Amino acid sequence: MLRFRTKKNDDLDLMVIGGGSAAFAAAIRAAGLGARVGVAEADVIGGTCLNRGCLPTKNLLYAADRYHLYCSASFPGLPCGNASVDFAKVIGQKDDLVHEMRKQRYLDVLEAFPEIRYFPHQAQFVDDHRIQVGDQQLSAEHFLIATGASPEIPKIPGLQGNGYLTYKESLDLKKLPASMVVIGGGAIGLEIGQMYGRFGTRVTILEALPRIAPMEEPEISEALQGYLSQEGVEIHTGARVQRAEANSCGRQLTAEIEGQPCVFCGEQLLVATGMRPNTDGLGLEKLGVKRNRHGAVVVDEELRSTVRHIWAAGDVTGRMMLVTVAAYEGGLAAENALLNAHNKMDYKPVPHAIFTSPGIASVGLQENAARDAGRKVLTTLVPFAQVPKAGAIRDTRGLIKMVVDAKDHTILGVHILGPEAPDLIHVGVLAIQNRMTVGDIIRTIFVYPTMAEAIKIAALSFKKDVTKLSCCAA
Ligand code: NAD
Repeated sequence: MLRFRTKKNDDLDLMVIGGGSAAFAAAIRAAGLGARVGVAEADVIGGTCLNRGCLPTKNLLYAADRYHLYCSASFPGLPCGNASVDFAKVIGQKDDLVHEMRKQRYLDVLEAFPEIRYFPHQAQFVDDHRIQVGDQQLSAEHFLIATGASPEIPKIPGLQGNGYLTYKESLDLKKLPASMVVIGGGAIGLEIGQMYGRFGTRVTILEALPRIAPMEEPEISEALQGYLSQEGVEIHTGARVQRAEANSCGRQLTAEIEGQPCVFCGEQLLVATGMRPNTDGLGLEKLGVKRNRHGAVVVDEELRSTVRHIWAAGDVTGRMMLVTVAAYEGGLAAENALLNAHNKMDYKPVPHAIFTSPGIASVGLQENAARDAGRKVLTTLVPFAQVPKAGAIRDTRGLIKMVVDAKDHTILGVHILGPEAPDLIHVGVLAIQNRMTVGDIIRTIFVYPTMAEAIKIAALSFKKDVTKLSCCAA
């Protein structure tokens, strides 16, 4: 077993820059190995996911979902209400929740690991072994850059001067806007756009590419666009936003769509066009730490930068901007730095999700990517209308697409649009991680009736006509 030995030449064995998921995973792993660890965070402890990402958005999306059900004729015989939302209170409970989780997940953790020294300050390299943190300088054997990413703001004339929100501010509004224009139909634009739409804001989403959620399977993008449109979200794809200005409606955008200029007005404007790694101001230039053209720290498979004892993990590497990946990478980088462990991450079975309603979740290869890689594949597309539980609860929105190897039916990709997609996908993750085949899934007994049966029905569809199944998808 690899063992860590402190060298004691420096103040710290590992200095972590950043205080989010990647940083804390690294610090905890390093402390567990007996290392002397420092963590510097200039902003509030907890990073994007906890403070302004995954947790607050899921809380607010759930509230919006409940309100949407309350206001709509969601089930025969159930009443539908028309009272309006106390938006300030909804935001207030979100703030309380974040506050509580920050204490549980970060502040209490710091107390449990006294070997982690926490510095609530900006950190900047002095040279390749010393860092300035607040008013002190510290030396360390290894450094981990885990500074995350911030919204990337496109260069649209008039945008800077006329007021816009990023996802951060959009989660702190105290008054529900009457209307909102969203630039970007990716994960953030769709989640926050739908959330506001369900609370009662008139939402328009402008996406530059030919479809929303452009990184997903086309069938999924298309179906989601239909569901969002049905509930009143206005979506324009192929929109080239040309300028922004302020006027009596709030913010006005001019975009070119199919060669025609179109004007959109919103009380609020949300910019959700991607993220840029936070690497400015760290003093990396003088150390020889290479960054790519997006500002991301370039790392090898072991998460080592171009300087031997400087490592990077999480969004700052600009690869998969997911909190799950960040946390995994943080622990892995700490072991590589302190134990010379040579760990590498397998990104193949990493799932991702977009928490719209219905939600998107996906793992593994998409059809085109598999074909482009020269693989012979078979695919299936099964609508949730074929899933007994979906019928029973009167919510048959969505579909499941499965991509398998044409020869031996090994499962290569599972892509779901459905009410519980982010939970269901874990069956797909296990299938891909364990190289399971369609036959393995078919031989597995699933609880009846469940949404998870969708995966079994998708597997069965490679063998038989699933429109002619009786109960229990056998
Ligand atoms: P994104 O890359 O997912 O989507 C940005 C979208 O904006 C793209 O579809 C792009 O084509 C479009 N776009 C870019 N410039 C544009 C312009 N000028 N006009 C119109 N459209 C334009 O980025 P995001 O939604 O900002 O999310 C940022 C990151 O955060 C992503 O890496 C995402 O994976 C992550 N995230 C994950 C989750 C989740 O796991 N559920 C949720 C939110 C964000």
